[in-house]
Amino acid sequence: MNTSLFLPAARRLYIFSAAIISAILLPASVTPAQAADDVQLVIGGQPVAFVVQPYQESDGSVYAPVDFVRRMGGNYTPSSDGRSVDVTGSNGSKITVPFQMVKERYCVPVKQVADALGASVGWNDRAHTMTLRARIEVVKQDRDGLSIFTSYPIYYSVKRLEKPQRIYVDLLGADLASAPATVPATNPGVSYIRSGSISYNTVRIVVDLKKNIAFKIASGPVTSHVQVAMSGDGETHVATRPQPILPVPVPVAPRPLPVTPLPEPPQDTPPAASGLQITDVACNVVSDTLTQIVIKTTGQGDYRTETLAGPNRLAFDLADASLADGLKRLISTDHSIIKSIRSGVMKADGKKFGRVVLDMTKLVAFNVTTQPSDDGVEYVINVQTPAQATPPAPTVAQVPDSTLLAGKIIMVDPGHGGGDSGAVGIGGAREKDLTLTIGKQLRDLLASNGATVYMTREDDTKPSVAARPQMAIAAHADYFISIHCDDSGARNSHSGTTVYYHAQNAVCRRFAIDVVNRIAAVSGIPPNGVKSDTIRFQTGFGVLRGSTMPAILVECGYMNSESDLSKLRTPAVQQHVAEGVVAGLLDFIADTGNR
Ligand SMILES: [Zn+2]
Repeated sequence: MNTSLFLPAARRLYIFSAAIISAILLPASVTPAQAADDVQLVIGGQPVAFVVQPYQESDGSVYAPVDFVRRMGGNYTPSSDGRSVDVTGSNGSKITVPFQMVKERYCVPVKQVADALGASVGWNDRAHTMTLRARIEVVKQDRDGLSIFTSYPIYYSVKRLEKPQRIYVDLLGADLASAPATVPATNPGVSYIRSGSISYNTVRIVVDLKKNIAFKIASGPVTSHVQVAMSGDGETHVATRPQPILPVPVPVAPRPLPVTPLPEPPQDTPPAASGLQITDVACNVVSDTLTQIVIKTTGQGDYRTETLAGPNRLAFDLADASLADGLKRLISTDHSIIKSIRSGVMKADGKKFGRVVLDMTKLVAFNVTTQPSDDGVEYVINVQTPAQATPPAPTVAQVPDSTLLAGKIIMVDPGHGGGDSGAVGIGGAREKDLTLTIGKQLRDLLASNGATVYMTREDDTKPSVAARPQMAIAAHADYFISIHCDDSGARNSHSGTTVYYHAQNAVCRRFAIDVVNRIAAVSGIPPNGVKSDTIRFQTGFGVLRGSTMPAILVECGYMNSESDLSKLRTPAVQQHVAEGVVAGLLDFIADTGNR
C-alpha cells in the first residue's frame, strides 16, 4: 500500500463540492434515511443479504441498494448528471430513478424499479418483507418441448415422478398469479400441463404424462426461458429433428393440484420404516453472526428448504426420511432469532419427508451445507444472525464448502503495477510483482472451485484507483479482493497480515475477519487482525470506497520485514495465502448466507 491508492487531493475536492451542490439542488436525493425501519428483500425465493439493509421511508416506500437488480439479471449505472440511477432490465427495459445515498450505496425505490423490470411485488407488513417474483409470461409446448418464459431470469429445478407419471418444473421466485392454469398439450405422451404453487415463492408446472417419455433440460441454470425437451417415443427429443405439431386436444377439466402449501408436522409420527432417518437435531451458536442447525441423518438424500412468513418459519424437508426413536420433537431455545425447532414427518405428493421447522422471530439469510459424519451425513442450516457491536468472533472451525463458489463472480485486484512499483522491499523486491503473482494464484484457485474470476490487471500495467472498483461493478462482481503488501519503513519494524475493510461497514468487516483468520491458519505469517481503512486515510482506500459489493484489501505481509518477505517470495507460501483468502471467502459466504 502507498498513497497512490488514494485519490489525488484535487479529485477529492471536486467530489466534496459536488456533494454540497447536489445537497442544495436535490435535498431529497441525499437525505439519509431517518429512523427508517429495516426491511427484508426476497428475490428468487431467498432473502438477499445487503451491505446496507433495505429500509422503509416514512411514506411507506421501500429503498434498497440498487445492486439488487443484478439478482434479476439487470444492471445499473449512475446517470451522467449524477442525480439519478439508470437501471436496465435483462429484457432491455429501462427506468431512471432518483436515489438516496446511504453509506456510499445508491439506494433506490424498490417497487418502482421492480415494476419496470417485470416483477410482481408483494409486501408483508407484519414480517416487514418485500418479495419480488418473476412473472410467468408464456408457458407453451411445441416441437422443442416445454417452454416457460419469465419476465427476468430465475432458478428452476426439474423433477421426475414415477407414480403417477409426471414431470415437475419448479420455478423459484415466480408468481403463480401470472401463470396460465392449464396449457394445451401437443405431445401425444402428455395428458395435461397445469400450474400450481408449492409455496408463496415457488410455482410448480406439472406435466402429466400418459407414458414414460424421456426429457432433457435444455436451458442453463438461471434463465428467463426454461426449456425442457421431451420425446414422444421414448427417446430424448432433438431440437434439430422437427416433429409435426399435433392438433390441440379438447380441453379436459384439470384435476386439483396436490401441491398446496405444505402441512405442518403432525404431533405423532408413524414408526420408522425403510429409508433415511434423522437421528439428531442440534442448534449451535457459532458466532454473533452465525448459528448452525445441525441435522444428523443416516445417509444422503434429496432435500428442499422453504421459508414461510407470518408466522416466520424455515422448513427443511428431507425426502424419504423418518425420525429416529428418541429424537426430541421440540427444542425450545433462547436464541434471538430461532424460537424453537420442531421435527416431524409429513406426506405430500405421495412422498414422505422428514421435516425440521425453525420457528423464527424474523426471516434471515441462510444456506444449507452437507458434510459426512461417522455414521451418515450432516445437513447444516447456516442461519445468518444480525451482527451486533461485539468483539471479533472466534475463528469458525469448519470445513469450507467449496461448492459455495459456483456461479460467484469475483474481481481480484493485484495492487499497483506499471510505473507504480508499490513498496520496494529488502533486496529490491517490488510489491507490484508479488501482488500480481499472488493475485494470479488466487484467480486460479477461485476458478478451479467454480467461480468466475476477473482481474483488474493481468500484467505489468496500472489501472487507476477509481477504475478498479468500476471494473468490478461492470463485471457484476459479487466480491472484490485487493492484494497488497505493507511497508512501514525501518527494517523489521512490523510483521504480519492485515486485512482492511471500508469505514465502519459491518459486512465487509466480517469478510475481513474471515479472511485474516484463514490466512493466519495456513501461511505462517502472523495475523495483525482487521482494520478499517479510515485508520489509514480519512475517507478510506479508493478501491474499497468505490466498490458496491463486499470488498476487502489484504496486506499480505511487510516488505520491510525479512521474515515476511522471505515467506511472501516463496511459491508455497504464496499459494497458502491464496488458499487462506479462498477459505475465508467461503466462511464469509456461509456466514452471510449463500445467494
Ligand atoms: Zn500497496
